[in-house]
Amino acid sequence: MLMDIVKFLRARIAEDEAGVNTYGAAIAASSDHDQRRLIAECAAKRQLIDLAFEHEESIDGEMGCCCSAERIRNGKCPNVKVNEIPLLLLLAQPYVAHRDFDPAWS
Ligand SMILES: [Zn+2]
Repeated sequence: MLMDIVKFLRARIAEDEAGVNTYGAAIAASSDHDQRRLIAECAAKRQLIDLAFEHEESIDGEMGCCCSAERIRNGKCPNVKVNEIPLLLLLAQPYVAHRDFDPAWS
């Protein structure tokens, strides 16, 4: 079964937030400032994921079949392939070395 890019991203962001890299080693933030930046980056990435679906909802409302963001997220909109949404593909690129990264996302 194909990896769901949203599940993949949410898992990687949670790992980043916990300070764990793909090899399971802890990443120590060198300062409080770095730690705050890391947490803020993770929060921003989660919001970008939500924003991607809101954006697709607005496009689908104008030119498609008016699906809700949630419906699109669940893969129910015939016009949107979740694993091909450009913003999500961009967010996934830093994790290209992860074993669950699908080469089709490159
Ligand atoms: Zn639709």
